[in-house]
Amino acid sequence: MIVSPVFRGKRYAVLGLARSGMATVRALCEGGARVTAWDADEAKRALVADLIETASHNVEPFDLTLADPLEIDLSGYDGVVVSPGVPINRHPIADAARAAGVPLIGDIELFAQARPTLPPHKVVGITGTNGKSTTTALVRHILEVAGVPVLMGGNIGLPILSREPLPAGGVYVLELSSYQIDLTYTLDCDVAVLLNITPDHLDRYDGFEAYAASKQRLFEMQSPTNAAAIAEDDTEADNVFYRLQHDCGRWENMTYFHRESVTGQSQWPSLQGPHNAQNAAAAVAVAHALNIGEDAIETALRTYPGLPHRMERIVERDGVLWVNDSKATNPTSTAPALAAYPAIHWIVGGKAKTDDLDACEPHLGHVRAAYTIGESAGMYEALLTGRVPAVTNAGTLEEAVRAAAAAAKAGEVVLLSPACASFDQFRDFEARGDAFRALVGDLA
Ligand code: ADP
Repeated sequence: MIVSPVFRGKRYAVLGLARSGMATVRALCEGGARVTAWDADEAKRALVADLIETASHNVEPFDLTLADPLEIDLSGYDGVVVSPGVPINRHPIADAARAAGVPLIGDIELFAQARPTLPPHKVVGITGTNGKSTTTALVRHILEVAGVPVLMGGNIGLPILSREPLPAGGVYVLELSSYQIDLTYTLDCDVAVLLNITPDHLDRYDGFEAYAASKQRLFEMQSPTNAAAIAEDDTEADNVFYRLQHDCGRWENMTYFHRESVTGQSQWPSLQGPHNAQNAAAAVAVAHALNIGEDAIETALRTYPGLPHRMERIVERDGVLWVNDSKATNPTSTAPALAAYPAIHWIVGGKAKTDDLDACEPHLGHVRAAYTIGESAGMYEALLTGRVPAVTNAGTLEEAVRAAAAAAKAGEVVLLSPACASFDQFRDFEARGDAFRALVGDLA
């Protein structure tokens, strides 16, 4: 656990006691802070009650109480810690914290504040609308191959404050959503990365500009001599690059990366598709900024194992490759998966976010047959009929897998890349991907 003396004697309220909230409570208490914790869910509050009970036997018992931060006087607090899931644009806690003059922060800000007391290290922060997890995991893999102690955190993996600090020379690689950046004020990344910005999460922002400005803040928090790596092949990321130079006067250590600058992609089985060329270009830019040797980079790109549910190669059977891209929950993230293979049996549908498939349009020539599922099965059946050689309204994932298995020939790919959320038929995209993997396993 990251236990830092910087928290000693400080006072925090922690709202939201899921994994990262509980890790925050523990780390702050161990560091000697005074903590008030709360969650609307009684079962989660019971976890804190247990912690209070157990810690009362410690030599130095925790200074921990349960109370709703909306019902206490927050003046004098050093921070109200919320999870990135709390919509701070409309949740009353934001007004309450503002009225009391207390900053609203997240666990990444606490990590940033603890940094001076950790062994010497570097931090890489990665943001963008799409590709964050892949790029973060790829940077971690490159550093592992290069023998550098590394830890991956933020929006991916275990809560950062629950991890053991790295030894001297280590690198923390953080995936940062804009929600997390909004709760962070002093994170000075040694390398900050911006992949792309496309419209998303607009319910949480006053429009696209505000969403883009949130991502830009990751760079505004940096010391000007630290490295910024920004995609050249994304219009809005390119605009951020321009604004950082012309509005913020940042000219040093600004690097561009471009998906077309990478070579050898055919040798990287888990990094197929134009989107992964962009992710690889970003990861290579980070590796260069950290002075990693070319050999380690090359090896890592070839051996990167991929993440579950992102163009995950499940199995190749009788020459047919089965690919799970359940994480693609909108047409923009499905498009690159369709671009990646020349002959596809495409399982598509679920809870649609848009009533078109326009982003996928340029790649429909790769589709041999489509199998539509879920709430949007009928809508996509109508949209795709006549546009691709065959369309089956399969309804369920099970039926789609059965039909695709019967039709796919050697050299073709069966791709689950639904372009939709999963909630109509599954708990989340992970449950949908797991169900697909199990169904494919059952075909053996
Ligand atoms: P994030 O963590 O930002 O959600 P992931 O790496 O988990 O990103 O990828 C999510 C989905 O977005 C993938 O299924 C893929 O289809 C798509 N995607 C990945 N990288 C990119 C990229 N650089 N540009 C556009 N889409 C991408």
